[in-house]
Amino acid sequence: MDSRTQPPTSVRTTCPYCGVGCGVSASADGVSPDSAHPANQGRLCVKGSALQETLVPSGRLLHPRVNGQDQDWPEALAAASGAIRQAIAEHGPGSVAFYLSGQLLTEDYYVANKLAKGFIGTPHVDTNSRLCMSSAVAAHKRAFGEDVVPGCYEDVELADLLVLSGSNAAWAHPVLYQRMKAAGRAGRRVVVIDPRRTATAELADLHLKLKPGTDSVLFNGLLVWLSDQDAVDRAYLANHCQGFEQALAAARQSAPDLAAVARHCDLPVDEVATFYRWFADTARTVTGFSQGINQSVAGTDKCNAIINCHLATGRVGQPGAGPFSLTGQPNAMGGREVGGLANTLAAHMDYDTPGARVRLAEFWGADRIPTGPGLKAVDLFDAVHRGEIKVLWIMGTNPAVSLPQAARVQDALARCPTVIVSDCVAETDTTVHANILLPAAGWGEKDGTVTNSERCISRQRSFLPLPGEVKPDWWILSAVARELGYGKAFGYQGPADIFREHAALSGVAARASGGHQRFDISALSALSNARYQQLEPVQWPVFQGPTGRLDGTRRLFSDGRFATADGRGRLIPVHTTAPGQQPTAAQPLVVNAGRIRDQWHTMTRTALAPRLLSHRPEPFIEVHPDDACALNLAEGDLGRLTGASGEAFVGRVRVTGDQRPGEVFVPIHWNDRYASRGKATALMQPVTDPVSGQPEGKHGVASLVPVACRWQARLLRRPGADWQPDRASPGGYWSRQPLSHSDSWWLAGQQPVDWAREADAWLGGAPQVLMDDPASGRFRAARIRDGRLLAVLLVEPVASELPDLAWLDQCFGAERLSKEQRHCLLAARAVDTEDVGALVCSCFQVGEHQIASAIRAGHTSVEALGRSLKCGSNCGSCIPELRGLLAQHAVSAAEVAS
Ligand code: SF4
Repeated sequence: MDSRTQPPTSVRTTCPYCGVGCGVSASADGVSPDSAHPANQGRLCVKGSALQETLVPSGRLLHPRVNGQDQDWPEALAAASGAIRQAIAEHGPGSVAFYLSGQLLTEDYYVANKLAKGFIGTPHVDTNSRLCMSSAVAAHKRAFGEDVVPGCYEDVELADLLVLSGSNAAWAHPVLYQRMKAAGRAGRRVVVIDPRRTATAELADLHLKLKPGTDSVLFNGLLVWLSDQDAVDRAYLANHCQGFEQALAAARQSAPDLAAVARHCDLPVDEVATFYRWFADTARTVTGFSQGINQSVAGTDKCNAIINCHLATGRVGQPGAGPFSLTGQPNAMGGREVGGLANTLAAHMDYDTPGARVRLAEFWGADRIPTGPGLKAVDLFDAVHRGEIKVLWIMGTNPAVSLPQAARVQDALARCPTVIVSDCVAETDTTVHANILLPAAGWGEKDGTVTNSERCISRQRSFLPLPGEVKPDWWILSAVARELGYGKAFGYQGPADIFREHAALSGVAARASGGHQRFDISALSALSNARYQQLEPVQWPVFQGPTGRLDGTRRLFSDGRFATADGRGRLIPVHTTAPGQQPTAAQPLVVNAGRIRDQWHTMTRTALAPRLLSHRPEPFIEVHPDDACALNLAEGDLGRLTGASGEAFVGRVRVTGDQRPGEVFVPIHWNDRYASRGKATALMQPVTDPVSGQPEGKHGVASLVPVACRWQARLLRRPGADWQPDRASPGGYWSRQPLSHSDSWWLAGQQPVDWAREADAWLGGAPQVLMDDPASGRFRAARIRDGRLLAVLLVEPVASELPDLAWLDQCFGAERLSKEQRHCLLAARAVDTEDVGALVCSCFQVGEHQIASAIRAGHTSVEALGRSLKCGSNCGSCIPELRGLLAQHAVSAAEVAS
């Protein structure tokens, strides 16, 4: 579609969040699941269900900005191209770098990669997908000869043994988890391998709560055990693989027997034995793995340790059997297809693929193809910090939050002479460093394709007009290319033109490989604009049948022929056994970081939907009860984690036996826009996997201390009020939680405050209603003008005494406060309203207290709670927590197991 045409009002499109890639029917009025999409088959999780609530104008970047001033596009394009041209002239093409995103559409990714590698001539094109699944990419290439996920989602349903390693699918891939759950049947077993008892562990027949970072030893041990029990497929190994003996010898070094594995992984021997026996006995075994495996200094080895066991048993690309990398991002795989990683070239060709540079130069009509790989994410930002990169163009991502040692990344951005940022959000931790800000189209406005975790290409279609001066990323990139004098190669009229070229290039690469390369969608290179618009989800490789029908491919390598030169799969010796960072006396705790159920990445979209911030409204630290006791921490206290670099994370303490002693968990989402010190990456060192370059994201070390607080407060103000918590309470804790009708902050501080004197500054003017009790430390005040509520401040000595704000937020929605509302303002609750407690079900806004009451009233199963309160009856994301509450409230095991 041309960017100037008006989009239709309702379309079938794809969810922009996780790698499951669910189909969505969307319009400006609402979203619903696309029942015809093969990924979700009529389901959506809570994030997908709330998409419509995120389509709000607040915070959008609507106009180009250069050095803080709004500019027209011609000036902005001239500024961007001028900076690039000058950097090339003065410092060479390698002084220009691109940092892309798995949120980009494939067409946008393709144009960025082509401009950088073909015409500017820089190899420095990396992406936030480096932080997500680059270890899986490297492992696929080592084992299979190509970055290929062999299986499909149906396999997790067909599997008789489902192993989930380093994957909290219930929260990170919720719809796929629902499919796993729905496929449960007599005899089907699930093994969850995770140091934490996550929501996913609720599905487990066996939960291996192993010591963090020891997964490769567990799978090395499995390889040894399979061999010793004569449970490997010798014929498959002989006919289709190489490297078994070397891999086995390496495995024996770290995992000679069950006892050694159990000791190393800190697991009971019988649990390890059970897992191994189940794996050996079950032909239909799928091992799903995700960020818990990938985000590690030994991520590639861990992935290969898993794949080794599947190759050794011949379980690759079979119905219900295979290793399965669950991709985090919506289009990480599309980015991999076009070559949007620093160590790849284009269309699954690498720099060392014979003839690739020449082929690509001919295809693109380009003469500046770099000779070797560029810098991977962490190294790239180090080069920015050293001043070697003069122009850095960041597209659709927030590295100032997501890369390790966030403060150093911010310092690097501040040092870079020209930072160009294309984004749809005006203010992020990264955009504040931009010299040139370019307004990019967001979900619902942009148009193109994405590829999900099972190689399924789906259309993401627009259904909203482009607001302000917003443009699609491919348009912005092509316009800069034209300014640089490369117009002939970038004369695209719309994404269909780009997709056809991308598809054609895949065919060039696949043919040149002599048939080894499986990524081939050249059958789609002749799609008309109309057929591109109507393109149905299809899994690559794609072939055209004799009738002209386009057929995808569900599984690959099913015949035992891999994408290597000799067609054999490779078992890889895995020697790595330990995580990079070890706890010390100064930093005695291991820090794990991950996603929460209702937020996505750095919250730029999900925080726009208030109900998505209700489930976990603040940054938090999950701590084992023993550690909490030893550190004098209680549930609801604030705690401060300090990492090896001295950077800190402050969050609300959650005491839970789901953690192992000596280990804590923090969420990855909060950032400087939403919390005073809430960046998990502040606790991670910039150490990387030697093969993939993926940084460690699951194994930091830190100390933990209570944050002494003299007071705790909630402040609500009308949205849009320019209130700076750092200015009001220097050095104090704050966390922002937008509500439906107001903006709210959690606040806490150690410094004494004379509330009666200083409340005006917090409320934006003198309060009209006030209650001050200095003896108890309680203070409440509200500011009202012309009957409208403008601000409320509630102060208590401890956070647990702060009320639920749902009722107060409703008061902000009133044009004029009623007499009763005014009367009850400082109580923060009408006389007859219930305190629902912490939110559990985001879809129907059902809180913990309501659920507890319903359980006590005899609703003692998930289904009964659903009938009574509706909780758990829509997206199902909260069902693991409902089960937890059922168990907690002393329901018998038989009743809970419904
Ligand atoms: S599972 Fe992932 S793709 Fe599907 S609706 Fe949820 S966030 Fe979107």
